[in-house]
Amino acid sequence: MTKHSDTKVAVLGLGAMGSALASAVVKAGYVTTVWNRSPRKADALGAEGAVVAATARDAVTASDVVVACLFDAASVREVLDPIADSLAGRTLVNVTTTSPEAAREFASWAAERGVVYLDGGIMAVPEMIGSPGSSVLYSGSEGAFERHRPLLDLWGESVYCGEDAGMASLYDLALLSGMYVMFAGFMHGAAMVAGAGVSAREFAGRSAAWLRAMTEGFAGFAEVIDGGDYTVPGQQSLEFSSLDDLLTASAAQGISTELLDAVQKLIQPQIDAGHGKEGFARVFESIKHPA
Ligand code: NDP
Repeated sequence: MTKHSDTKVAVLGLGAMGSALASAVVKAGYVTTVWNRSPRKADALGAEGAVVAATARDAVTASDVVVACLFDAASVREVLDPIADSLAGRTLVNVTTTSPEAAREFASWAAERGVVYLDGGIMAVPEMIGSPGSSVLYSGSEGAFERHRPLLDLWGESVYCGEDAGMASLYDLALLSGMYVMFAGFMHGAAMVAGAGVSAREFAGRSAAWLRAMTEGFAGFAEVIDGGDYTVPGQQSLEFSSLDDLLTASAAQGISTELLDAVQKLIQPQIDAGHGKEGFARVFESIKHPA
């Protein structure tokens, strides 16, 4: 591992997230050079002690590790393509959210230019950076991950997902899938009780406690899915998990049933195929092998 005093860091992109990442690096005592397309956004970092570069190239050439926290894959290309020569021999940590495919393309792009590449997926909002609960997923160069752990660990728990550069992004997007469906489930429940005069605030309190408790079930589902035997006794069966009552109650409230319909459409084919007495985890099969 490299001591932080040996490593000079550039942060390209000082939006909400880039600024939070850069600030943590500055506070930890690294020589930090920052650059942003709109220069004013660098003022606060400059006041904290970062060196403000006039161009992205200047930031890169002043540093060993270049952190890109831009908007999307296209903006990363726009910034880095013209200065690719300056990145040669350096490590690029790209924490901009991109698709797994785009991450792999960046890894190839980097390899062709002699740049060490680490892709990152940030599982936090800017306010969480450096606090417990923040984690960042990485994939790509394992050597870079190990060498720069002291730097990466400033932002949260650092998790290495493998040499395939697309893996961090895939993992990131998989976790976000769970988040969005859970958020939508909360909205559905809030809409169900709203007609009966229950405020979303009150429902949020109950929902959070309930969903937290329900996450305890993931491990059991995972064991069944990984074991591939959905007949293992002791599981909640698909038949027992029918959403009919939920759909009827939702319709009676006059609210959309689209979200529950979607879940029911994953349960029902398994029952129709004769698996009704098997575990709810079989929904995984409906998703993994769509008809
Ligand atoms: P912001 O919108 O706050 O900032 C976007 C940054 O990208 C700005 O620095 C902006 O520069 C720059 N940028 C956009 N387009 C270009 C371009 N064509 N050329 C040069 N610079 C450009 O976004 P965040 O900081 O919140 O997010 C940055 C990345 O982090 C995103 O990929 C996001 O998905 C990811 N992320 C963010 C999270 C969050 O909660 N905010 C959570 C997890 C990941 P300018 O100031 O000049 O517009």
